Amino acid sequence: MSSPAPLNPREIVDRNFTRAAERLGLNEEQKLLLKLPFREVKVEVPVRLNDGSLKVFIGFRIQHSGVRGPAKGGLRYHPAVDADEMRALAEAMTWKTAVVNIPFGGAKGGIACDPRVMPRAEVERMTRKFVARIHLLIGPNRDVPAPDVNTNAQVMSWIFDEYSSRHGYSPACVTGKPLELGGSQGREQATGRGVLLVLAEHLKDLGRSLRGQKIVLQGFGNVGSNAALLLAEQGAEIIAVSDVHGGIVSKDRKGLPVRDLVEHVKKTGSVVKFPGPEAISNEDLLVLECDVLIPAALECVLHKDNAGRVKAKMIAEAANLPTTPAADDIFDKKGITVLPDILTNAGGVTVSYFEWAQNLQQVSWDEERVNADLEKYMTRAYRAVAALAAQKKLSLKQAAYQIGVERVARAEALRGT
Ligand code: NAD
Repeated sequence: MSSPAPLNPREIVDRNFTRAAERLGLNEEQKLLLKLPFREVKVEVPVRLNDGSLKVFIGFRIQHSGVRGPAKGGLRYHPAVDADEMRALAEAMTWKTAVVNIPFGGAKGGIACDPRVMPRAEVERMTRKFVARIHLLIGPNRDVPAPDVNTNAQVMSWIFDEYSSRHGYSPACVTGKPLELGGSQGREQATGRGVLLVLAEHLKDLGRSLRGQKIVLQGFGNVGSNAALLLAEQGAEIIAVSDVHGGIVSKDRKGLPVRDLVEHVKKTGSVVKFPGPEAISNEDLLVLECDVLIPAALECVLHKDNAGRVKAKMIAEAANLPTTPAADDIFDKKGITVLPDILTNAGGVTVSYFEWAQNLQQVSWDEERVNADLEKYMTRAYRAVAALAAQKKLSLKQAAYQIGVERVARAEALRGT
């Protein structure tokens, strides 16, 4: 028997864009202009490995749109990185920056590699060579990368250094930098904080609060671990978590001690073997009974073959594109609310915008200001999405796409072709 075709995240943006464009009455020309990526580059990245041999990696940068501002989006280091995945993620960034109404377009990039098995010096050389290949196409007013899966503040520092050595001191060429190099207060936690803000706002609409919500989290990296810490601080109970190595679930379904778990992950590199809870596979974790399921790892993890078994009352999409269209339809039928990624995980890019703005002005905001402004942007975006969803009887995802696509379409029409 042949194995099933791999799930393609392009289907997710294609379906949601098409529905939004139809509702907005966009014509074929408008749809074509909005949908096609503005620029795509694929580069070879030759790296001299520590053993003296040469390895050529393949890197991508897809700039989907620069209509509302410089293209903006993460840089991912992962074996599954390919052009199609990057295109889908870049497009999602265009609608996301428009939903939270920040002056950016959408981009995504990555290198097909497994940095978990590469020595740090090789990751550094690979990053620098990648910047050497694409530096003419990025920059503060063109395209501003940020951290994503398997990249972090250190990788952003190398990008900043390599770009600045060619173009002069340019901290605004990349966001998610360490504080010492012009990073913003609150950026590390921003995506997790955004997830919390959207979830709290939605629960408020239902007359509930975060306190006592039983939460299951897939992915315990930057987004997942920070979301867990912040949610636990507000009284939510993180009952199960996982990473690429496997998962754990609390035996009595009460909240795990998240701070200790974060320390354990720092020491061992994984949530597994944390003393106390039971082991659980990633597949079984997604179908645990809970109030809120938070996918915070990779795309397409909720699909037609497991959506029917999901027992969560609500799904908060912290990862990008975690739910396929078939799964969305199943959740709609089952009455499971999905808080959409292009709203829910937009906290990171919003604080990236604050970082970029601080860098351009050579100023530095304190954390209180960053968090207060983040709350303002996220709450405003949630309110607009929830209001449209209620008014037009749409899912929150359809409403978010409609707002994002309409804002970009208007800007595109004003700029002209
Ligand atoms: P990260 O590399 O810091 O963490 C990724 C986590 O997912 C790790 O715990 C990893 O072990 C786990 N993981 C990887 N493959 C897995 C698998 N097959 N099964 C289960 N777990 C797996 O990455 P991150 O920055 O936390 O990003 C996570 C998700 O959030 C991605 O979808 C990313 O695009 C999205 N996102 C990130 C940001 C950001 O600011 N970093 C912003 C918006 C959206």
